[in-house]
Parts: sequence; C-alpha cells; structure tokens
Amino acid sequence: KNIIIAIDGPSGVGKGTLAKSVADYFHLPYLDTGLLYRAVGRKMLDAGEKPDSKSVLAFAENLQEKDWLRNDLRIPEVDKAASQVAANPKIRAALLNVQRNFAMLRGGVMDGRDIGTVIFPSADFKFYLTASPRIRAERRWLQFANSLKAENKEQQINKIEMDLKTRDEMDSSREVAPLKPAEDAIVIDTDHLTALEVLEKVVNKVKR
Ligand code: C5P
Repeated sequence: KNIIIAIDGPSGVGKGTLAKSVADYFHLPYLDTGLLYRAVGRKMLDAGEKPDSKSVLAFAENLQEKDWLRNDLRIPEVDKAASQVAANPKIRAALLNVQRNFAMLRGGVMDGRDIGTVIFPSADFKFYLTASPRIRAERRWLQFANSLKAENKEQQINKIEMDLKTRDEMDSSREVAPLKPAEDAIVIDTDHLTALEVLEKVVNKVKR
C-alpha cells in the first residue's frame, strides 16, 4: 500500500530532520516541498521578476526535479522569495500536482506547510510540529554554526529568530493555505524533545 505521511509545521521546527528519518525507517520516498517554493523563488530573483509574473508562473508549471535539487536554495534571500511566491494562489496550484505525482507510485513522507490540509487531506498519517521561535532559532543556528563565528552567537540567534517570526507571520496570514494544523493532525510540541524522541513518537503512531 502507498502510505502517505504528512509532516507540517513552521520554519526551523525540525520537519526536515524528522521526515528524512521517518522515510528511511519505513523505506518511503521523501520530498521536502519547501524546496519547490524555493526553486520558484530562486527563479523569480534570477529573472528579476515579481511573485505574480507570467514567466515565474510558467516556470512553476513546468518545474523539474533538477530545479529543486540546486544547492543555492537555502540562503536568506531565497527564504524570503519562497514565502513571497508561496502566497500566490496560482503558484500553489501549479505545485499541487508536482507534489501529488511525487507520492503517486510509492507513497511518501512529505514535509511542508499544507500537506495535511491541502495536498493530501486524506493522508494516512498527519503530524504537525511546533516549537517556540527561540528554540527554532537556536536549532537553526546550530545547523549553520560551522560557517558562522561563535563570538556573535547571541546576535546571530536574535537575527535568525526575527527572520523566522517574519516568515511565520507571512505564512500564517496569507489567504491561500495559511499555515495551521489539519483538524485530524497529531500535534507534537518539540521544545523539550530531542530529534530521536520525536522520531520515536512518530514511528510508534505509524506502527500501531
Ligand atoms: O520549508 P521551507 O522553509 O524550505 O519553505 C520555504 C517557504 O516556502 C516557506 O516559508 C513557505 O512560505 C513556503 N512553503 C509553503 N508550503 C509548503 C512548503 C513551503 O508555502 N508546503
């Protein structure tokens, strides 16, 4: 059977880490759907276009795997551009099929914002992760700590926290598919849990 597991939540909450481990555990394909929006945001920046331009939409409609496997998609400018294109309903509609097709053959673990609410409302399992902005910022900082200088740690974490809050605000207040848990999602507050503890919770739910 093609099992579909939805893992939604705000930025920096640990969806990616969790979704990858869950996918490994159950031998399911994994898709980080944020990358699709990032690829479209990247295109918008490269072309010097606006989020509602025709060429950006055409790009989203013809999105290929190679577009979202680029290695220049996880930078602050692209964070912001992705949130901008993600607020355009036409772009969301264009990316809907890419996401559904991905899981069609073999199921999948999909991480995103609206997997349980819009993309796969009848997913077999829906999880929604939360954590306070401060903790999410600290985790993000640790992820990138190697490339940053530890001496400005506090300031760096503050800056990351501010950017996360801005993005939360954009993602929760947009009209189309605002960020919120599906009614039947299992909500996991990860503030005081390790990545392994979150994985255990999810695996136990899916196995039962
Ligand atoms: O998850 P990630 O931070 O890579 O996502 C980048 C942006 O793409 C998010 O801030 C959000 O605006 C958008 N996004 C979305 N729906 C998804 C995944 C990402 O709107 N399923």
